[in-house]
Amino acid sequence: MTAIELGPFPTDPAYTEAVESDGTDPLRSFRSRFVAPDPDLIYLDGNSLGRLPVDTISRIQEVVDVEWGSQLIRSWPERWWNLADELGSQLARLIGAAPEAVVVADSTSVILYKLTTSAMQARPKRKRIVTDNLNFPTDIYVAGAVGEVSVVVVSPWDDDPEQTLIDALDANTALLLLSHVAFKSGYLYDMERLTRAAHEAGALVLWDLSHSVGVVPIDLTGCDVDLATGCTYKYLNGGPGAPAFLYVSPNLEMENPLPGWWGHRDPFSFSTDFEPADSIHRFQTGTMPILSLSAIEPAINLVAEAGLEAIRAKSVELSEFFSRLSDRLLQPLGFSLASPRDSKRRGSHVSLQHRDGWRATQALIKDGKVIPDFRAPDNIRFGFAPLYTSFVDVHTSVMRLTELFAVDAMSRHPDTRGSVS
Ligand SMILES: *Cc1c(COP(=O)(O)O)cnc(C)c1O
Repeated sequence: MTAIELGPFPTDPAYTEAVESDGTDPLRSFRSRFVAPDPDLIYLDGNSLGRLPVDTISRIQEVVDVEWGSQLIRSWPERWWNLADELGSQLARLIGAAPEAVVVADSTSVILYKLTTSAMQARPKRKRIVTDNLNFPTDIYVAGAVGEVSVVVVSPWDDDPEQTLIDALDANTALLLLSHVAFKSGYLYDMERLTRAAHEAGALVLWDLSHSVGVVPIDLTGCDVDLATGCTYKYLNGGPGAPAFLYVSPNLEMENPLPGWWGHRDPFSFSTDFEPADSIHRFQTGTMPILSLSAIEPAINLVAEAGLEAIRAKSVELSEFFSRLSDRLLQPLGFSLASPRDSKRRGSHVSLQHRDGWRATQALIKDGKVIPDFRAPDNIRFGFAPLYTSFVDVHTSVMRLTELFAVDAMSRHPDTRGSVS
């Protein structure tokens, strides 16, 4: 097959609009703060693994050379011991939480287990956990290990998905467990309304912020949220496997169901009796992965510097621009929108469905140098990370996809999905 044109595509009518939008974009200077060795590669998967911030390289170098290499064990008291708490406080600003209510720890899945268990202990007479079929699988698996799970079937295209969930809450419901932004469709829940409804039903609420933190403004305090968690490697750009964070409302008295020496009030007493720390630190369990933990700091700083209002504004513009291009250029090729059209109800990725979605994704990645991702059975997710995605990136991606269809690039790719996608 002859190589496809990689663009840009100045003759398409939307190109000028893209260039103008980039020219007036208040966040345009942030693009160069990320590592991007191949100028032709367009990365639209920051909702799964964010790009590497330039500042992270020197930070990790310092941890390796100085803090570990030279300072050795002395770095524990001087630098590392409180790092997860300090980063939790910094992260708190991005989710509208009090600094003392957030700590970095574990992975999202492990935190879900801890917080779900704590919630069940706080509502001992109630046995049910209500969640939905839009949730990330790990959330549902974990809940199933802790309580009786009711998975409410909702559709992001219903008039009022929130009401369907509210109707499912009953006197036996201990916990409402939801993802703020659904990983497949990008549906963005009304956090305030659902939290209020859970409280009215006497239940607690646990929000998984993995797909919203760093890209959607969040107000945990204002919404009176009980519990929250989320990962740091998506729009926060903390790096593969970076530890997650947990939030417990300061109004709640909760214990860590997985107590470990790290959460002890005085760990270096090496006492055989567990006495939890007074602070959110008690939710720690074991030694933190310091290399990964250190990579979070420059990443949080970038988001804080840009500001979530500006990030959200650009995210909405990028996804609306993409949706308009998709209506004009991709719909005739068999793509249909699989995300809410109203940006108030959508996070920062837009999903398209196509019956040949897997092969279209492969062609786009391998021949088109555009990286989205694929979620079975037919969902292609296009993630827009406002700190480094440009309007010309969006335009070029759609144009490359149309070019690939024009030369039937799909036919060169097998129809079988790999085990990691
Ligand atoms: C990405 C994601 C996770 C990932 O959990 P890990 O334990 O970090 O693998 C969990 N929940 C949601 C909603 C996610 O989007």
